[in-house]
Amino acid sequence: MKKAVYPGSFDPVTFGHEDMIKRSAAIVDELIVGVLNNSEKNSLFSVGERVSMLKELTKDIPNVTVDSFDGLLVDYMKESGATIIVRGLRAVTDFEYELQIAQTNHVEYPAVETIFLVTNLKYSYLSSSVVREFAAYGGDISKFVPPQFVDRIYRKSNMNK
Ligand code: ADP
Repeated sequence: MKKAVYPGSFDPVTFGHEDMIKRSAAIVDELIVGVLNNSEKNSLFSVGERVSMLKELTKDIPNVTVDSFDGLLVDYMKESGATIIVRGLRAVTDFEYELQIAQTNHVEYPAVETIFLVTNLKYSYLSSSVVREFAAYGGDISKFVPPQFVDRIYRKSNMNK
């Protein structure tokens, strides 16, 4: 049984993340979307809000669950019994950091393997930080995030001003 975790901040979730979730769910038996509870990061949405948005987004994919974790990803892997980490590679710039993290995780927990999915070309430019920036200045984010979240993101951006 192949159980995987797709970890990230998902602040907010984008079409790029959605594409990654669908594609990795088709490869593994069970996929946990793991929302990192990183209190140091100045986040737009709380972890609870991000989890519930991801649950809404993935409710029709039977082998996907959504959870949050804090601390080390390898500890969460042990705790959840998952042995595969899924990450996305958008550009060469992602590669160096991802390689280092994947190797460190493998040393820390040899049972764990990281698999990388190459970003769908349509979304290779897309990142949560760009969405946050566009939303803050009233830009059109409808091409970047699932329609049900557009208003929520604008509202949250305005609240934080
Ligand atoms: P982090 O803060 O850890 O980078 P993100 O939520 O930004 O987390 O991203 C989580 C994962 O999704 C990472 O592996 C990242 O490379 C991938 N990802 C982010 N944006 C996209 C995208 N547009 N297309 C495909 N993968 C993406």
